[in-house]
Amino acid sequence: MFDYTNIEDYHHQLFSGEYTCLQAVVHYIQQIRDAKNLNAFVHVYEVECLTRAEELDRKRKGGAPIGKLHGVVIAIKDVICYKDHPVTAASAILEGFHSLYNSTAVQKLLDEEAIIIGSTNCDEFAMGSTNENSSYGVVLNAVDNTRVPGGSSGGSAVAVQARLCMISLGSDTGGSVRQPADFCGIVGFKPSYGSISRHGLIAYASSFDQIGIFANNIQDVAATFAVISGQDEYDSTVRRQTPQQMNIKDVVTKKYRIAYFSNAIDHASLDPEIKEATTQLISELKEEGHYVKGIEFDLLDYIVPVYYVLTTAEASSNLSRYDGVRFGKREVTEQDLTKFYTATRSKGFGKEVKRRLLLGTFVLSAGYHDAYFTKAQQVRTLICQKTENIFKDFDAILIPTVPVKAFKLGDLENDPITGYLADIYTVYANLAGIPGISVPLFKHRDGLPFGVQIMSNKYNELTLLELANELLITYRQPHFNV
Ligand code: GLN
Repeated sequence: MFDYTNIEDYHHQLFSGEYTCLQAVVHYIQQIRDAKNLNAFVHVYEVECLTRAEELDRKRKGGAPIGKLHGVVIAIKDVICYKDHPVTAASAILEGFHSLYNSTAVQKLLDEEAIIIGSTNCDEFAMGSTNENSSYGVVLNAVDNTRVPGGSSGGSAVAVQARLCMISLGSDTGGSVRQPADFCGIVGFKPSYGSISRHGLIAYASSFDQIGIFANNIQDVAATFAVISGQDEYDSTVRRQTPQQMNIKDVVTKKYRIAYFSNAIDHASLDPEIKEATTQLISELKEEGHYVKGIEFDLLDYIVPVYYVLTTAEASSNLSRYDGVRFGKREVTEQDLTKFYTATRSKGFGKEVKRRLLLGTFVLSAGYHDAYFTKAQQVRTLICQKTENIFKDFDAILIPTVPVKAFKLGDLENDPITGYLADIYTVYANLAGIPGISVPLFKHRDGLPFGVQIMSNKYNELTLLELANELLITYRQPHFNV
């Protein structure tokens, strides 16, 4: 029976002859079939993956040097373009659309010999926190099928949680990797804005969007990040400097300076069990000799409103390209052009996307632009400045990933505001452009997993991943296993 731990062990197993890439792919195809009820995948590329696995096995056995992700079975969110494969952002408006090119991230995965097993379900255009806003239907949390896996990258999270692949990619505009990782009990990492090219990532809010990584351990996250990050001629927002070398050691003896937001820990919306576990972790870190200090982040309650004003504004511009003329589905009408657009967009977009496009168009409209959009930009600048100041004195910020446990299916159906407010701890890193990671450490008394979130200074992913690894190894609750 095929068993996966991490890339390094898997590569040893391939070389010792214990496993082949083909066995791995056959295993995951079976796993995906058995877990069909979870609805994590939109498309599975069975035949081509089997062929690619055989090719890789042949190549390796012939003595050729192997790629860094040789035979690693990876799933990608349905917002990441893979040439000649369907990509729809889980939206009816893109039904039947196939990508004409590879996103930079996918190209880099393929160049290092990864096997892309399929595309995963998500909230439409990555807008949501539950994976319920999808034209493919809901995804179920594998730990408790009455609960959501989180969103918007719910399918990618469950694909790793239920062991349907080794690693997956999601996108994180406001927590869509870290929040589902928290709900599913796995690692979810959002790099700094500008670390991974957004070329070929379907845009939601371009100044926030970033590809993120799901895995079960930090070494796999680091290895994948090292491959897909870095300069790209197709995305000028990517940092020009070569990314730091990653070598995440199991034993780290460093002492860190860690800040936590005391008003986040004392926030009325925080679930008591999450508060208790986070407070306990803070005490243990202090006992271990780390310098851990509570600070007030006085802009905390502005974070969610600023995020929703700016992202909906950017979305209303980005999504204007879906007009029925150039991409995907078209509603044929006998009438004039405006009626044609109206019919196509009314039918093609789901409820949540429409809500956000209306809000975004409103905050950008003449007469309201300064009151909402400009004001929100000003507050974003303040948030960035405050963040820069914090990192003059600290290596990391620690807060919960999400203030609540995984929602029950249908809980947010008529209450989108509760969902938006629960983004309070995740959208901060996107506003500030800093990297963040959710580390699965805890369980609620009813068995649902949850994590803790740490963030580091912009482009300091190495510190973040080293600290995350230390937390995972040293502070994971003893009975934690998903
Ligand atoms: N919950 C956030 C939202 O609905 C997550 C978005 C994201 O990161 N793609 O906007």
